[in-house]
Amino acid sequence: MATSSSLPFLLLSTLLAAIVVLLQSPVSHADLDHQKAYFHACLSNKVWTNPSAPVSVIGALYTSTNSSFSDILNLHIHNKRFNRPNTPKPIAIITAFHESHVQAAVVCSKASNFQLRIRSGGHDYEGFSFVSDIPFILLDMYNLKSISVNIQNGTALVEAGATLGQLYYKVAKNSHVHAVAAGVCPSLGTGGHFSGGGYGNLMRKYGLSVDNIIDAKIVNVNGDILDRKSMGEDLFWAIRGGGGASFGVILSWTIKLVAVPPLVTVFKVNRTLEQGVTDIVYKWQHVAPKLHRDLFIRLQHEVHHKTVQVFFIGEFLGRTDRLLSLMKESFPELGLRKSDCLELPWVNSTVFYTEGPIGYPAEALLFEAKYPAQSYFKSKSDFVKKIISKKGLRSIWKKFIESEIIVMQWNPYGGRMWEISASATSFLLGIRHNSPLRKHL
Ligand SMILES: Cc1cc2nc3c(=O)[nH]c(=O)nc-3n(C[C@H](O)[C@H](O)[C@H](O)COP(=O)(O)OP(=O)(O)OC[C@H]3O[C@@H](n4cnc5c(N)ncnc54)[C@H](O)[C@@H]3O)c2cc1C
Repeated sequence: MATSSSLPFLLLSTLLAAIVVLLQSPVSHADLDHQKAYFHACLSNKVWTNPSAPVSVIGALYTSTNSSFSDILNLHIHNKRFNRPNTPKPIAIITAFHESHVQAAVVCSKASNFQLRIRSGGHDYEGFSFVSDIPFILLDMYNLKSISVNIQNGTALVEAGATLGQLYYKVAKNSHVHAVAAGVCPSLGTGGHFSGGGYGNLMRKYGLSVDNIIDAKIVNVNGDILDRKSMGEDLFWAIRGGGGASFGVILSWTIKLVAVPPLVTVFKVNRTLEQGVTDIVYKWQHVAPKLHRDLFIRLQHEVHHKTVQVFFIGEFLGRTDRLLSLMKESFPELGLRKSDCLELPWVNSTVFYTEGPIGYPAEALLFEAKYPAQSYFKSKSDFVKKIISKKGLRSIWKKFIESEIIVMQWNPYGGRMWEISASATSFLLGIRHNSPLRKHL
């Protein structure tokens, strides 16, 4: 029986339940058919005919009656978890070839009362870019992938459908001493990755992707195309870390390139429990955020043959000899040797970081991820604000050994990350300064 003190809660929950039921009430077939017809009629309006578009927006439209509908949908699903027969499928997919197609997708899905999901690289941890519980249109950006590099100004203009791999490759084709401060996985889309923050090996020296964005072009909810000047500084702030899809569709970014030496040094060494990895990881937590900012050392924890192995994967913006003397000074416990190190141009270091075999060419950055998705996985990120004790580390190892399948990556902050004001971008406000580490599980 409800007591008087629980009543307000009960009333509130009844009200909430009613709202949820209202929101979830199934759309009747007649309504859905009407919505579809309205959507199609809207797209067919000649207002969307753009002479510079390679195909009309109708030519970029796929529905379940097209034989290639499933292939287009699956092309950028990287996780089998979101590729099941019962995973909700879009009413239609628009594979935009032109800005006007993006405008049409926004205006027509809004007018016909469909939700719009926007996908660039398709790496969303929970598949939010291509799955929804209510009828939806998928706007796929992968055809909008042009990249132009201006070495004189030290900038690049990249469309949202380009992947990080394509961007890294194009920048390196133009210069061996310019780079992009962004993530590790080359198939991440710049549309989703940049708008969510974007951390990578260069963040201790140059900050996140969002710290190096100097302009952006978006389509807003009314279908207008805006750049930094016309969208204003508030919106420009919000799309740098707050997730692009909350505010519109990102068409392109203008980014500042960052300086790297002609050769960088990389290494990957592993240490086991028997080699005292608990002590080494404990020490790493203290030193990694305070190391010279040219040096980034990520940890990757894995279980092999019922024991924990931790890989120390490093990138140094300089040559091996200088790296070894820095390591001797700051982190001798790792015992890094010259034979562990490899000197490479920056672009090849991005291939090394993706676990490509040594000497694998930079062209590997252009490979499309295989589809259909190859594996099921669940990922999440979190921030470590306090040093984890050795006891805490041992209990993590225990859980690892019990599960056998968890992989964890720890990325250190510090350096430039601690200098940039917490409110400079909308990336997880305040987190930069409180966190020495970012943990990726
Ligand atoms: C294997 C893997 C490795 C990763 N490595 C890193 C890493 O090294 N560093 C790092 O920072 N993060 C990393 N991430 C996280 C990744 O950056 C985010 O998941 C990012 O959002 C992916 O962007 P996407 O374009 O590939 O994904 P999508 O699934 O296409 O999009 C992700 C989100 O952004 C929205 N979005 C996409 N494109 C647009 C657009 N044009 N306009 C507006 N909104 C858009 C989508 O609607 C969705 O909400 C990794 C994720 C995975 C799965």
